[in-house]
Amino acid sequence: MTRRIGGAGTGPSPLSRSAGTPPPPPKAAQKNTAATEPSNLREARYESRFEEADTARPKPQAEGAKAGATAGAKAGAGASQDTAKLGADVRKTLDEQLALHPKNSAACKTLNALAASPGFQGMKPADQQKLLRYVGGTNRDLSGPARAALDKKLGTDAYKKADAGKQTAQLQKFLTDQPATPDVVSPQKDAFKDKRLPYTLHGPTKAKDIEFQSGKADAVKYEVEVDGRKIPVYLPKKMDKTSTHSIDEVAKGLAALPKSSRALVKEVLVEGKPNPDDAYWAKEYNDPNFSSYMTAGADGVINVYPSKPKQSQDYLDGTMIHETGHTLSMKTWGSDDSDKRWDGWKAAVKSDGIVPSKYAKASVGEDFGETLQLYQQVKGTSQEAEVRAMMPERFKIIDSLIAGKP
Ligand SMILES: [Zn+2]
Repeated sequence: MTRRIGGAGTGPSPLSRSAGTPPPPPKAAQKNTAATEPSNLREARYESRFEEADTARPKPQAEGAKAGATAGAKAGAGASQDTAKLGADVRKTLDEQLALHPKNSAACKTLNALAASPGFQGMKPADQQKLLRYVGGTNRDLSGPARAALDKKLGTDAYKKADAGKQTAQLQKFLTDQPATPDVVSPQKDAFKDKRLPYTLHGPTKAKDIEFQSGKADAVKYEVEVDGRKIPVYLPKKMDKTSTHSIDEVAKGLAALPKSSRALVKEVLVEGKPNPDDAYWAKEYNDPNFSSYMTAGADGVINVYPSKPKQSQDYLDGTMIHETGHTLSMKTWGSDDSDKRWDGWKAAVKSDGIVPSKYAKASVGEDFGETLQLYQQVKGTSQEAEVRAMMPERFKIIDSLIAGKP
């Protein structure tokens, strides 16, 4: 059997960037897009060097940790007077964020120090709200590292000795750049373990001349049966087990997908070789070391590429959700993100301001994949409300896209 990947309906993805997605794209990468775009281009995702081990994550403030020099002075009883200049809505948000940390005095001190700072008081109320929600949460994906970075900033001479206007500019830049944001949305350990459904493997059977994205090769075909549906999975006949996911790992990933994501997966191709489009993406994303881990397009075919070291099950589980985000968004709004139908998402990105990861800044398509993954990671957890408050417009769109589907 011979198969085509991509083909009619998938289309190329020029990945033109939204003006609302910070930071602006490197112009050099953009101008060559049309000329160098490979056929059958599929959205890519960075591979493992960006998987952040728990130990490598920016450390959130420890429970009960000693307050930083900055935080200490402004915290406590004086805080309410210092924040008298804030609007009622902002003070309410401050109280809500403080209430999230009944046992974390360091977090409260940072928030109080921020609120009492003349620089903060000079920000627009809408930005004050955004910043409080961003650094005030209990989630360790975004708020933990952001709060630690902000605490450090408030303690620097560059901040303390600046006048109010320059402090405001520094906080505004912090809110725009989000320097502590992780490289990619990455699940906590065993995040999807309890969501995994039972699955059955059928096969393997021999499959000749399969058109993998990385070239035609003989393969073995399995069918992974989950929740009453069989999803074909092709693996290379000869594979390097140190870098290529096994059928069981792929099956576990499919079994852990939210139902709405799994419904989008037509089949999975476990590639034996790197993505031939990596050179294109390296240029497009302005990263000479770029190598794809997974790709997907509107057709619902997921390609999984070798990675060294091989990715963890958690990372595979999370990335599969990200890939189904490409399928969902391309099916809904078109494979080319300059399509008008993408405008609603672009406006939501701009309005929310907070990004789910640095990788989300690569393109609006990646922003969608990263946001969907974060949405599913926090859905039904105690952190859902606070993360939703950070990116309300995007979460609303995802709500409506997967309405009625878990
Ligand atoms: Zn992607």
